[in-house]
Amino acid sequence: MSTRPLPTIALCSLALALAGCAPRPAALHPASAVEAAPAASATAPVPAPEILPRAAWGAREPVLPMKTHTIDHITIHHTGEPSHPERTIEDKLRGLQKFSQAPATLEDGRVRDPWPDVPYHYYIDTAGRIAEGREIAYAGDTNTTYDPTGHLLIVVEGNFENEQPTAAQLESLRSLVRWAAWKWHVPASAIGKHNDYAVTLCPGKNLTPELPRLRAMVGG
Ligand SMILES: [Zn+2]
Repeated sequence: MSTRPLPTIALCSLALALAGCAPRPAALHPASAVEAAPAASATAPVPAPEILPRAAWGAREPVLPMKTHTIDHITIHHTGEPSHPERTIEDKLRGLQKFSQAPATLEDGRVRDPWPDVPYHYYIDTAGRIAEGREIAYAGDTNTTYDPTGHLLIVVEGNFENEQPTAAQLESLRSLVRWAAWKWHVPASAIGKHNDYAVTLCPGKNLTPELPRLRAMVGG
């Protein structure tokens, strides 16, 4: 577990210098998910999917200060690298965090400074497991030219220019987006993908058709 490259997460951020995947934290624990909806007329509470908390994958503390924000968008990314179903999500998150917290050379030769923490708020692996990334209260990071402040960042493992998302991934993505949209009052119109905001292939042509389905599911 020491020397593995951080394939997955680096993708969106490193590999796709063009894109710029960046996340924000969002993870609350499942138990806290079904809180009373603030708006009296809000729809019925949506249960949270099962989310592996930071402590369960061995997250280290952020290494730099982070910017607080208020969630008003949900933005979907892919890792941009081939999926690794043979590795556990705990291992991937540790690797992603290690990669994120160190300087990195981008494909275009730029060197980005270390990030405080994992750039995304949630990670969905090929088995459909969901892990908490950066705490939702803090804006994520990106190598591309959009400001992820206010965006709840979800990254789905794989390069969906070449691969197809698994059924389990899509099921978890729907559960996560439906819950997050309810919890943070994000309208369907504010559910998007990375390349809605920046020049990038992210989240890949094979995941893109899911976006209208997610918006329709949330309604509005
Ligand atoms: Zn992205």
